[in-house]
Amino acid sequence: MTSTRHFALSFFGPILMGAIYCGLVYQIWDWLDHQRIPPLVAMLVGSVVVAMATRWFVRNFIPVRCIFCGGKSYEIPDRGNRFMCRVCAKDH
Ligand SMILES: [Zn+2]
Repeated sequence: MTSTRHFALSFFGPILMGAIYCGLVYQIWDWLDHQRIPPLVAMLVGSVVVAMATRWFVRNFIPVRCIFCGGKSYEIPDRGNRFMCRVCAKDH
């Protein structure tokens, strides 16, 4: 995967997963209401958690192909769109 596609995935992935989660809550809306769980709170809090989890998953488990050696590289924490290669240790 290229860094551009990775960036797109890390941006749209959480939104997409959040939307899927919202759809899921909508499906079980009456059941949640019956369990005395406010569905709107479950939807808002849950979608934030799901979005953060997706972002974390993409960052840690979806590798970007190294432009130097073709090895797997992962995003450097706190440095947006910079990747450290696990094979040659170069960042790009
Ligand atoms: Zn490399």
